[in-house]
Amino acid sequence: MRDFEQEVRNAAGPLPPIRTEEFSWSLARHYLFRFCRRAYFIRYYLAQGGWDAYSHTLAREAYFSKYLMPFDTWLSRTLRDSIREAFAKMSAGSPGHKRRGFGFYLLRQIGKATADLQMSLKNREYLYDAKRPAILEHHLGIGDFADVDKLTGMAVSILGDAYAMLSRSDIIADLANISFIDLRTDDVFISIDYKKGFPVWLVPGLIYFHEGAACAINAEVRLTGGENSSDFFARIGRLDSLFALYCAGRYPGFPVNITTFTFSQELSSVVYNLFEPDIESLIDASSAEMLALIDKDGLAHPEDFPPCENREACRKCRYQSACRLLESAMQGKQV
Ligand code: SF4
Repeated sequence: MRDFEQEVRNAAGPLPPIRTEEFSWSLARHYLFRFCRRAYFIRYYLAQGGWDAYSHTLAREAYFSKYLMPFDTWLSRTLRDSIREAFAKMSAGSPGHKRRGFGFYLLRQIGKATADLQMSLKNREYLYDAKRPAILEHHLGIGDFADVDKLTGMAVSILGDAYAMLSRSDIIADLANISFIDLRTDDVFISIDYKKGFPVWLVPGLIYFHEGAACAINAEVRLTGGENSSDFFARIGRLDSLFALYCAGRYPGFPVNITTFTFSQELSSVVYNLFEPDIESLIDASSAEMLALIDKDGLAHPEDFPPCENREACRKCRYQSACRLLESAMQGKQV
């Protein structure tokens, strides 16, 4: 039987051009713009309103796709969030007591996040609620990632190694010397009121004051065969510089210290203050390119955001399903 409700919805759907929301910039946005203009269009414009079950199929698919997280991103986020949570829960006491408490809560948070991921994947919860944890490689059925038990086994093994390295690093000792009242914000995402009149968003990890300096502790995981090491450290340098820019506006005159615990299967290290000298030039040039693709009425036209030329990149692209649908819609086919 024909689904007239679906057909009417499709016919009335929000097909392009799309009215854009207020512009903001982030490092993730910059990297996606560089990776593929079409993916950028899907993530930042097509997905608008896709949370609504009654929105167009295209918007819903785009919205679903943006929550599919590459495995290394999930690991980094889990480690970073677990450090923040463990610090917030760590009770007062001697440095030794705090250290043990931090380790206890860190393990607990890592375990909880992994169990939550397993639940979401096993029960396919993420298919019905885009905000439940989802791993891109699992959704695409790539190798061992397709098997939930193998995937969570890998997560436990990598996070377990990262935990062991972190426990031996100076980071935990440093944290044990910090009081809970030195914590600056509970927010995961923070924004800079950038001089060009739009916000710049960043996720710098745990933010606190220590010995008269504004500090942050972040964590990044790199997998074998993933991002190459020079891109990985360049990205950390840019993130550190964004944090310094945030502090220049928020805590002017205070020195800035940002520590990043980097974990990879070959080499782990603690990186201090890896700044990129001119982050503002990057923001200015990158945002100008993005804004140039919005017309004077604030509309984004899909034909201005072509697919990338490196079709090899499409195989692991989280937007590939939305991309196919969009391509069909642009050819006048019903989706
Ligand atoms: S599938 Fe390819 S062309 Fe389409 S959004 Fe992804 S990377 Fe771009």
